[in-house]
Amino acid sequence: MSGHGGGWQEVGERVFRFRYRSLDLNVGAVLGDGEVLVVDTRSGPAEAAELLADLRALTRLPCRQAVNTHAHFDHCFGNATLRPAAIWGHERCIGELRTRGERQRRAAMRAVPELAGELAAARIDPPDRSVGDAGASLRVGGRPVELRFCGRGHTDNDLVVLVPDAGVVFAGDLVEEGAPPSFGDAFPLEWPATVGRLLDLAAPAVVPGHGDVVGRDFGRRQREELAAMAGLCAAVAAGELPAAEALRRAPFPQDHAREALRRVAGGAEHPARGRGDEGGLSS
Ligand SMILES: [Zn+2]
Repeated sequence: MSGHGGGWQEVGERVFRFRYRSLDLNVGAVLGDGEVLVVDTRSGPAEAAELLADLRALTRLPCRQAVNTHAHFDHCFGNATLRPAAIWGHERCIGELRTRGERQRRAAMRAVPELAGELAAARIDPPDRSVGDAGASLRVGGRPVELRFCGRGHTDNDLVVLVPDAGVVFAGDLVEEGAPPSFGDAFPLEWPATVGRLLDLAAPAVVPGHGDVVGRDFGRRQREELAAMAGLCAAVAAGELPAAEALRRAPFPQDHAREALRRVAGGAEHPARGRGDEGGLSS
């Protein structure tokens, strides 16, 4: 156990995660032939530099590729420090960082004051390798790695990283351990089916964006909770249930459930109305 996190843990053959104390974030490392792929880049230059130092303790392989699981700062504001590595991300992740990255920075500095300096120092550097809803197949050296878009959920740009020969999937914040799912930019009605498609990938080890590594049983339980939350959101939106009663029945803490209700009531899921924009922030 080092001072800043739990060290590298091998979650599948030559696939590792580092659980950082800062935000309880997981970063992934997939060792291929002659290179290593990094999954998520942390919140800014000092955190990303620490990640690269940790990576050097794990392997001497160069990092020529990285992936951002989505556009939240803790998963991508360290990008610039990993250059010249190619960085993969969903096309809407790229658009989000370009158009709203600065707004997210300001919101994050207020929400996470202990990281304000780090966030202020970050150069927002969107992925340069764009992935559409059809996903992408990468090679890390000769090793196959799949980037999959399973649908909207935690955001509209969540990519999952599947390492088929290791039985590992990096779920980003579509799955959360140790903290409830975060709904600030979420699509609560679609999220349960998205997690279902993630579980259909049939990887026995699921690395959440935050918290401990889990199995598919945990994923199924989280999908059921998300489905219960979606049902409450739909009932409130249809005028069949008072919001206060939905909050009382919610499987998640009140502030999280309130955000889920707000997202659905605000029409976030309606494609024509696009995203709710009340300044919510989630990591
Ligand atoms: Zn997030």
